[in-house]
Amino acid sequence: LEYHADKGWHSGRVVPYQNISLDPAAKVFHYGQTVFEGLKAYRTESGIKLFRPTKNFERLNKSNARLSIPPIDEKLAYEGLIQLLNVDRDWVPSVEGTSLYIRPFIIATEAALGVNPSLSYLFMIIMSPVGAYYAEGVNPVKIHVESHFVRAVAGGVGEAKTAGNYAAGLNAQEEAKEQGYSQVLWLDGVHRKFIEEVGSMNVFFKLNGVVVTPMLNGSILDGITRNSVITLLKHWGVPVEERRVSIDELIEAHHNGTLEEAFGTGTAAVISPIGELSYHGEKYVINGGETGELSAKIYDTITGIQNGKLEDPFGWLVALD
Ligand code: PMP
Repeated sequence: LEYHADKGWHSGRVVPYQNISLDPAAKVFHYGQTVFEGLKAYRTESGIKLFRPTKNFERLNKSNARLSIPPIDEKLAYEGLIQLLNVDRDWVPSVEGTSLYIRPFIIATEAALGVNPSLSYLFMIIMSPVGAYYAEGVNPVKIHVESHFVRAVAGGVGEAKTAGNYAAGLNAQEEAKEQGYSQVLWLDGVHRKFIEEVGSMNVFFKLNGVVVTPMLNGSILDGITRNSVITLLKHWGVPVEERRVSIDELIEAHHNGTLEEAFGTGTAAVISPIGELSYHGEKYVINGGETGELSAKIYDTITGIQNGKLEDPFGWLVALD
C-alpha cells in the first residue's frame, strides 16, 4: 500500500517477496520515521486464526500519530493482510506449537533531507513461519536490570512501536548477553528506579499473591499479550494491579520471600518466566529459578486458546474465513 500526500493511501497489491528500491535520501534512513507491528496466525482444527489482530492495527495508528505518519485505514490494512494470507494458506505451518509471524510496517519514502514529516510512505507486510518459541515448554530466563542506559522517557516515543526504541537498546542488550543474561529490564528515565519493560516484553511480578505490572505511562508499549494476561487474571479472580513498581520494592519483596513469580509477556514468547534478575552486581533468584505455577498456567491457557485447543471465552481469535 502506498501513501502520497495528494492521494492518500492507494495502490494496494500483493507481490512476491523481493528487494525494494528506495532513494538514498528517503526519510526513513535519516530520521527514523517508521513504525511496525507483530502478530501471529495459528493453524487450528477449525481453520487458520489470527490472535486479536484489530488491536495491532489500532496500535499501528497510535504509533503513526506519534511519528507524524498519516493514519492508515485499519480495515484496508487488515484486508491487505487477509489477501496476502490467502495467496497460500500453507504458509501457516501445521506442526504443533508453530505459527506464522506477521510483520506489518510503514516507512517514510520521500527523498528530501529537510526534517519534516515525509510526504510519501510505504505500508508493507512480511511474514515468516516461526517455531515453537520454547521447545521444552517454558524455561525461565535470566534478565539484567539496566542501571546505566535508558530506553525511553515519558513524552518520548516509548509507547510507539518504532525502530529507534529498539536501536537505543541494542548496546545494553549486547552487554547483558556478554554477562550471561538474555535480555535487559529497563528502568524509568527520571528516577531510574521504576520498572518499565523488557526489550520486547511487558513484565509482571507476583508479590504476595497479587500480580503487579507497571501501569501504562507513555514510555512503555501497550502490549496485547499484557492486556490479554490482565483480562485472564481478572477472569480467574486473581488480584492484579497496574501501578508503578520500583526495583527497590522488588528487592525488598525478594528479601521477605514475597517475590513469588516474575514473567514477561509478548507476541513472540507469549509468557517467558523470569528465573533471575541481576541489579548492580547482585543476583536475585526468583522461585528457585523455576517456572512459577501461575506463569505456567497463564502460558498453557493463552497458547491453548491460540492453538484452538481451549475454549476462547474472550473472542480473541479471528477466523480467516
Ligand atoms: N514491549 C515491547 C518494547 C515490545 O516490542 C513488545 C512486542 N511487541 C511488547 C512489549 C509486547 O507486546 P505484545 O504483547 O503486543 O507483543
